[in-house]
Amino acid sequence: MLFYKLQGLNSGAIRPAARQNCDTTADEIIRLTKMDAGALHGEREFSARPVHDRWFRLEQSTFRRCWLIYYTNALAFCYSWGALKTIFPFSTTVDEMNGRERVLAFLKGDAVDRLPLMPVVMMFCADQIGVKYGEYVNDYRVLAEAQIQTADRFGFDIVSNMSDPAREAFDCGARIEFFEDQPAAIVESDALLADKAQLAGLQMPNPLGDGRMHAAVNALSLMKDRVGNEKAVMGWVEGPCAEAADLRGINTLMFDFYDDPAFVLRLFDFVTELALLYAQAQVNAGADIIGIGDAAASLIGPKFYDEFVWPYEKKLVDGIHAMGAAVRLHICGNATSIVNGMGSLGCEIVDLDYFTSVAAARQAMGPQQILLGNVDPVRDLRNAEAEAVTAAFAQCHRQAGERYIVGAGCEIPRDTPLENVRAMIEYANSRL
Ligand SMILES: [Zn+2]
Repeated sequence: MLFYKLQGLNSGAIRPAARQNCDTTADEIIRLTKMDAGALHGEREFSARPVHDRWFRLEQSTFRRCWLIYYTNALAFCYSWGALKTIFPFSTTVDEMNGRERVLAFLKGDAVDRLPLMPVVMMFCADQIGVKYGEYVNDYRVLAEAQIQTADRFGFDIVSNMSDPAREAFDCGARIEFFEDQPAAIVESDALLADKAQLAGLQMPNPLGDGRMHAAVNALSLMKDRVGNEKAVMGWVEGPCAEAADLRGINTLMFDFYDDPAFVLRLFDFVTELALLYAQAQVNAGADIIGIGDAAASLIGPKFYDEFVWPYEKKLVDGIHAMGAAVRLHICGNATSIVNGMGSLGCEIVDLDYFTSVAAARQAMGPQQILLGNVDPVRDLRNAEAEAVTAAFAQCHRQAGERYIVGAGCEIPRDTPLENVRAMIEYANSRL
């Protein structure tokens, strides 16, 4: 029996040659082999010469040895690749992660499969499941359902129990106004601490005392039961300046900084203790992250921020860390003048509203601080074309650098066109 031995091939191209039937002509073998080998090794010149049966058997044993070498090399390569991944984590691709894995890995500084996506969504979620926002605010089961369905539908990495700024204030006894399809609001003109003397007798509310805080804890607990470890779960508390303003009235509090700083400190003591109790209840219910909303802090400037607000925010941040949760600081408005202080609190995530310069925040906070935002939710997300949405996120990402989470400067407006929401999602999905 006559076989043809191909010359001019390396081991990677022997297999197709060895498989050719002995009845095939030499020219045919060369043609077929060129087809296979050409793809692997580029066009090469081959020749074929006839060999006898025993030579073919010899070739077969050589062939088996070649494949043994090939597999050994492949195994060694895999081990080397694993070692390289450990040494250079950013030079490798990462297996697909779920939302919780992605967020927690990113917070730790580990490699992730794509940028985390953590927009603030509340009214948008209620609309997604066709309920009035009043139901979302007042029924924790509705809130949880809306959050989970929306996060699943759009691939958001977190679910959250935030709904309005009036949960703690309501439980303190403040007068709150509820609406059919809007967030609950504090009645500023009838503030609980309009008379400063009321602070001394104010009872500390129990976050698990069947009030509005308890409902939010129940929402969080229900969401944790439903999403398990698939998505990160985020709780929410009012920051010291925001809650002080909720109880005292924002305008009155601004005068207090000048007129009665001792009262401000006593008030901040009270609201910070309340925030810590509320945060602990949410961490116990499964929160991975606690958001601190302290919008009023953007109104007071660096002097009062550093002197009054920062120490209490720091106490709150440290306390939440001691509970084992991460912290997301959210200060709406123009916080450019206080970015130094915000960056030194040790929060895992700092949100930036669109008034606040990303470049200034990055410069003040250093390269490792995770920044989120600062796309203008109305101008650049709701009212823009989809391509402009992509461009807006790209610009923020450029200014923020690698440590960046996708989300707008504040809440995603409820009537944002879905193609614009998808442009935001696509931005996160396509970027590392
Ligand atoms: Zn905001």
